[in-house]
Amino acid sequence: IEQTFGIIKPNAVQDGNIGNILSAIEKAGFTLRGMRMARLTPELCRGFYAEHVHKGFYPELEAFMTEGPVVLLCLEGENAILRWRELMGATDPAKAAEGTLRKLYGQNMGRNATHGSDSPDSAAREVSYFFSAFDRI
Ligand code: ATP
Ligand code: MG
Repeated sequence: IEQTFGIIKPNAVQDGNIGNILSAIEKAGFTLRGMRMARLTPELCRGFYAEHVHKGFYPELEAFMTEGPVVLLCLEGENAILRWRELMGATDPAKAAEGTLRKLYGQNMGRNATHGSDSPDSAAREVSYFFSAFDRI
């Protein structure tokens, strides 16, 4: 049993797709271990995306991720890290497979609806970055 970290990004919240994405998560059989809304600050965003801070697209990424509320998720299940990334689809919605969350609810490479951890190390770091022991069950 594995845990992973997810975000419903500002575009998907603004478009009214929180329910659709949570429904897909439940249908896929994940157990929700943590869930809360937040508004990222630039500082929180820089710490979260530490590996991307020095890349050319980072200013655009920070502007987007701080533009409105997000939903933070801790998901649990067999192979949760890989399965959540499969459910999301490719980073670029234009290249994501039919039926994936980014294909359904993403607009472009930046506004791509969801985030998911990419490894056990990043999952552990990201879950504990946003969730304390008190707000996970
Ligand atoms: P995420 O980490 O959000 O789950 P990912 O692991 O598929 O997505 P990363 O390479 O970690 O992709 O990039 C993090 C995020 O930065 C992407 O989800 C996307 O929103 C944004 N991003 C990545 N590359 C670009 C780019 N070339 N132009 C604009 N935004 C980008
Ligand atoms: Mg990533």
